Amino acid sequence: MLVSSYDILRDAKKRSFGYPAPDYFDYDSAKCFVETAEKLNKPLILSYAQVFDSFFPLEDAADIGLYLAKKAAVPVVLHLDHGTAEEYVEKAIDLGFTSVMLDASTDPFEENIRRTKEIVKKAHPLGICVEAEVGHVGSGSIAEDSGVYTEVEEAKRFTEETGVDSLAVSIGTAHGVYKNVKPVLNFQRLSELNEVLEIPLVLHGGSGTGDENISKCVKNGICKVNVYTEFLLAAAAALKEQEGDLHTMKAAAKAAVSEVLSHYYNICGE
Ligand SMILES: [Zn+2]
Repeated sequence: MLVSSYDILRDAKKRSFGYPAPDYFDYDSAKCFVETAEKLNKPLILSYAQVFDSFFPLEDAADIGLYLAKKAAVPVVLHLDHGTAEEYVEKAIDLGFTSVMLDASTDPFEENIRRTKEIVKKAHPLGICVEAEVGHVGSGSIAEDSGVYTEVEEAKRFTEETGVDSLAVSIGTAHGVYKNVKPVLNFQRLSELNEVLEIPLVLHGGSGTGDENISKCVKNGICKVNVYTEFLLAAAAALKEQEGDLHTMKAAAKAAVSEVLSHYYNICGE
């Protein structure tokens, strides 16, 4: 069934655990994620990123996501990941997404507040949850400069003024693949943020972060762990190893992707 993320994430925050939020990029990946969640009997935060639009348009993603969510045996949140333009986020809301992220994290802080507030104003009366980001999770490198980490005071003011439902924080992860290094996470900052903020926190760049780091994050307020790159890597490795026709190869890729998601449920779980 299709649900909003509100209760799911609040409950996770209360009980100090989290959920993986996998990005789907075609029908097969969405179907695989839903089936995996059903097998484990867990809610699913089925996410679609604006950056996929050029090869998998939002309208198609909404049709597929809603179709699978509505007939799923477990609660499914349909979430827009990294919406960068208001029009795009509003389109996702109109199409039936139950949760949206407006990422204005590269804007000046006041502008991030202003833009996020506008989306909250549109989303909340419809029962749709809003995620935003303060600090900035970059790609391919690690935030060594403490200015990139989410500042506690800023995060506090941001959540109070915007009324967002969850907040992506920057504590040392990065999007994509880590180049021969394991990320060093700032757990001190995370626990400070967790202490001050009442809303569930979100970790972007979950792939490659490491099991131990993820477990520690979910015990310290992270309730949603975004994962994408690891699915691509697992599928590519399975395709390379599997011989046979296309159906056999696709089945091997699907099994590998499902295994990665199961693993994340496991390390994020209660
Ligand atoms: Zn992200």
